[in-house]
Amino acid sequence: MKRMLFIYNPHAGRALLRTKLSDVVDIFVKAGYKVTVHPTQSFRDAFRVVKEYEADDYDLVVCSGGDGTLDEVVAAMMKREIGARDTIGYIPTGSTNDFANSLHIPKNLLQAADVAVNGAAFPCDVGRFNDDSFVYIAAFGLFTDVSYETTQEMKNILGHLAYIFEGAKRIFNVPAYKLKVEYDGNVLEDEFAYGMITNSKSVGGFKNMIGKDVAFDDGLFEVTLIKRPRNPIELQEIGAALLIEQIDTKHMYTFRASKITITSEEEIPWTLDGEFGGNHQDVEIENLKQQLTIMVPKEKIDKLLTKKHNI
Ligand SMILES: [Mg+2]
Repeated sequence: MKRMLFIYNPHAGRALLRTKLSDVVDIFVKAGYKVTVHPTQSFRDAFRVVKEYEADDYDLVVCSGGDGTLDEVVAAMMKREIGARDTIGYIPTGSTNDFANSLHIPKNLLQAADVAVNGAAFPCDVGRFNDDSFVYIAAFGLFTDVSYETTQEMKNILGHLAYIFEGAKRIFNVPAYKLKVEYDGNVLEDEFAYGMITNSKSVGGFKNMIGKDVAFDDGLFEVTLIKRPRNPIELQEIGAALLIEQIDTKHMYTFRASKITITSEEEIPWTLDGEFGGNHQDVEIENLKQQLTIMVPKEKIDKLLTKKHNI
């Protein structure tokens, strides 16, 4: 019998899982799994449980919660020896599920549970951030902490970054980080107000500036760096560009990269998958190509695999 560790955050999102828990476990058992259920007891509990289980304990780890829970499970999985890592299934119950949407994981809990056990295993890229990791976004700058707490409605109306710059307009206190950014043989030196390194089609409902052809197994991140606006007009121009989701080369850099190092003169706070990722002066970000195996709908696997695989 196959063995599954099922970790869920009982406080995630709208706590919808609670009423469906019995049906979800039933789907797992019908798929042939012996299930160990672990409701998370505290912050970082999912991380600890996944990092510490014995190599032969499980064949599949399914987690349910918001992006924070997924981040913990993935981060812990990446801390395990390569040979002791297991496939992850994800049942999203958070308020924003950018990453799940990108991978076509259903919003419906029972459908997502079915995908976790009967779907297809997708070799997905994952980010290394110094000694830590992230699933779909590493970001710094303007209101990165506050913006994640804004309501979904607000994000939907304005778009994630547009909201950030709207806020900045009102408060008129735009941070400026003097950074040296090195990526795949290039060097940039400038003052930046915001930056994001992503592996997702959208962030907080905001579509990626780089375009529609985002691949999750190509070993590349999409990077957007926004320069510090030097006056209210520039601030307005940036806000307008973000609102219409168009790259404004005068005010921002966008590129793809597999490895990025960012050096700043002072420590700057980062967020990883929407959670606080610590203050850092030197950051090394690397795309760990196809190192996370995650269950996706069978009918979407061909769409998700980059064309290189299909040839
Ligand atoms: Mg990519």
